[in-house]
Amino acid sequence: MGRTKIGIVGCAGRMGLTLARQVAANDGCELCGGTEVAGSEQIGRDLGELAGLGSNGIVVGDDPAVLFAEADAVLDFTVPAASADHAALAAESKTTHVVGTTGFETLHQTAINAAAAHTVVVQAANMSLGVNLLLALTRRVAAALDPEFDIEIVEMHHRHKVDAPSGTALALGRAAADGRGVEHDDVAARGRDGITGERKPGDIGYAVLRGGNVVGEHSVVFAAADERVALSHIATDRAIFARGAVTAALWAQGKPPGLYGMADVLGLAD
Ligand code: NAD
Repeated sequence: MGRTKIGIVGCAGRMGLTLARQVAANDGCELCGGTEVAGSEQIGRDLGELAGLGSNGIVVGDDPAVLFAEADAVLDFTVPAASADHAALAAESKTTHVVGTTGFETLHQTAINAAAAHTVVVQAANMSLGVNLLLALTRRVAAALDPEFDIEIVEMHHRHKVDAPSGTALALGRAAADGRGVEHDDVAARGRDGITGERKPGDIGYAVLRGGNVVGEHSVVFAAADERVALSHIATDRAIFARGAVTAALWAQGKPPGLYGMADVLGLAD
């Protein structure tokens, strides 16, 4: 079998360029194209040059339909509305869709779920090996500790991030709720300000920090009287997410249609 042809939508973004470098570094795949949002100044430029790889003859385009038709897998770290549109193209062309975009609302997720009936979709709010281990550990620790332990999730990201709490923080909260056997949305305390009253027993609280160029830091704190357990992950380079995305794209080839997560890709599924 030849090398897997990979396309990148949003290829000139922070993750898009990191993905381009990661695809170039992996012998199992080759870059077949990239797109940017209509009107972007990057359209028409050489993607290799933008990514610091030297000219590779791949010109940033603006037609995702062409890209999905050409690629075996498309990596998508863009914005929710764009990822929802891309999902329809993935379904039509039966191309693997690796979705790293976060901040989805129900209508976007519905579009992704619909596409998964026709093609392989791998979606994860965080594609790193370490965070996916953290998710599995969080579920286990939440199941093992009694409800006397309050669960708080703290995250920090760079100043440009537009959604909060991060998709990863919410995934950690869901893993904790799952471990405890409760509905996440019934117990999530996502914003505290002013006279909030005492902490409600069973809540899963979120605290969000933004600043500098922090790639991503997450901690899950289990706090009881006189003791605390903290599980943490610190990302220092976006390459960890790109490595996970490329691994997912290669893993997906030949798999039946469906919605998969990184736990499936990494063999961590319960
Ligand atoms: P960014 O703003 O630097 O990049 C997004 C890119 O998408 C931009 O270049 C933008 O022009 C482009 N874009 C927007 N609409 C488009 C469209 N219709 N077609 C093509 N391109 C389009 O942001 P970023 O830091 O690279 O993050 C992108 C997303 O990935 C965010 O949702 C972020 O939270 C998420 N993210 C996920 C992971 C993970 O592991 N899952 C890791 C890092 C970031």
